[in-house]
Amino acid sequence: MLEWKKEPIFCKRIRLLRELRGLTQRALIPVGIKQSYLANLETGKIPNPSPEMIVNLAKGLGVTAEDLVSGTELEHTFTATELPVRAYCPNNVCPKLRLNQIDTGMLIPYRFSIERSQASKDKVYEAKFCPYCGKKLLIACPSCKEPILIEDPQQIHCMLCGKRIFEKLTEEQIKSVKGQI
Ligand SMILES: [Zn+2]
Ligand SMILES: [Zn+2]
Repeated sequence: MLEWKKEPIFCKRIRLLRELRGLTQRALIPVGIKQSYLANLETGKIPNPSPEMIVNLAKGLGVTAEDLVSGTELEHTFTATELPVRAYCPNNVCPKLRLNQIDTGMLIPYRFSIERSQASKDKVYEAKFCPYCGKKLLIACPSCKEPILIEDPQQIHCMLCGKRIFEKLTEEQIKSVKGQI
């Protein structure tokens, strides 16, 4: 059995594996792990990293996410199938809606969404504003604070709590989008 697999404490396993790979704490920045985050994780200050972060850590350390948690205290709470947290533009006249519509050929376009953690060169930042219209992105349902899941392009309510998240697209907005194609 590999040495790091014998370590049952997740934070210690991360540090051990990183050191075995000869990586610095900054080496995981390109996969979306900030140096400060990793430092806190390795010292046990972040006991419950999100599934998204575990997937990113695994990518950066060259193992599968399942192997990374296997035999640790996180083994039974981690599910790799969890969706990455996305941020949505709430603007019904966002130019990206038109572009989505052209791309997909759909009458009503899917809302523009972006992965919340964006990596650029050696920096990681959280996407806060829509790059197409500048409106503040929504990262969670304003009512239940859970990540937003979208099943249908016309969906305006939260799938978890049923409260409204987005304004309904008006006939005029749909028509004006149609007119642009
Ligand atoms: Zn937008
Ligand atoms: Zn909700």
